[in-house]
Amino acid sequence: MDVSPMDIAQTDTSPEHRPPHVLVLGGTTEARLLAGALHGRLRVTSSLAGRVARPVPLPGEVRIGGFGGAEGLERWLREHRVDALIDATHPFAGTISFNAARAATAAHVPLLALRRPSWVPVPGDDWHRAGSPAEAAGALRGLGRRVFLTTGRMGLAAFARPDLDDHWFLVRSVDAPDPGTPTPARMETLLDRGPFTLEGERELLRRHRLDVLVTKDSGGAATAPKLAAAREAGLPVVVISRPPVPDGVPVVTTPDEAARWLAQLSGGELSG
Ligand code: NAP
Repeated sequence: MDVSPMDIAQTDTSPEHRPPHVLVLGGTTEARLLAGALHGRLRVTSSLAGRVARPVPLPGEVRIGGFGGAEGLERWLREHRVDALIDATHPFAGTISFNAARAATAAHVPLLALRRPSWVPVPGDDWHRAGSPAEAAGALRGLGRRVFLTTGRMGLAAFARPDLDDHWFLVRSVDAPDPGTPTPARMETLLDRGPFTLEGERELLRRHRLDVLVTKDSGGAATAPKLAAAREAGLPVVVISRPPVPDGVPVVTTPDEAARWLAQLSGGELSG
């Protein structure tokens, strides 16, 4: 971080003084890095949805589980005297981002979205954009029959459709699909968590004779090697576009910039 979070911390030693409290909505590498950079200088609470069975350990305070919608989050912000809210959730976690915008407005808490940049195609890529998992499933016919599906277990149901029964899917996800989730007729599950290597991705494409990749536009380096491997192999890639960030919410792309935004609040709202 090139901005010391010390800049944000207050030096007031009066009995009423409490360190500014920042709530980081997490579940991403960027959220973890930001919490690590702020921890010890501010009071930082990281919030996780609780989807992953064994989350990576986090510095600072951690709370796990939903808030109960925008109203629940608003209540949490007030009850825990949160001075700033950073939505550092995954670019595809659209519901919590929408709730964060509503709750922050209602509780008068400054809100920032931290979103890693989108991936962009480079020469040699054969990308096909889709607006949703359902659209991606619809695009598959004609592109390939052996599908590397990396959209996670939550979007899996969209690919469980009769017109894809003759397709085969290698489904890679951190945790196994919930029992009862509709799944494609012919599939194999590969439980794994990034970062992945180019060599490893090449080997997967080769071993399973995959001929099309489906991915969300998650961005970031940890899962990008699959794109390079697909490019090298001349495979088409179906890329699901991100939902928009809620109107009016400022966006930064790095933990550094988020720390700078907090520093700018230090003379104003973030006064502890
Ligand atoms: P979502 O659809 O936007 O959220 C669904 C509900 O989960 C929210 O309404 C909220 O419940 C709860 N929730 C989500 N994120 C939360 C957080 N950080 N802290 C507390 N509650 C949270 O989100 P999702 O796509 O299921 O993703 C869940 C989490 O996994 C996110 O935190 C995200 O950063 C992480 N993640 C998601 C993806 C992805 O592809 N979607 C990938 C990697 C990591 P209440 O309404 O009860 O508050």
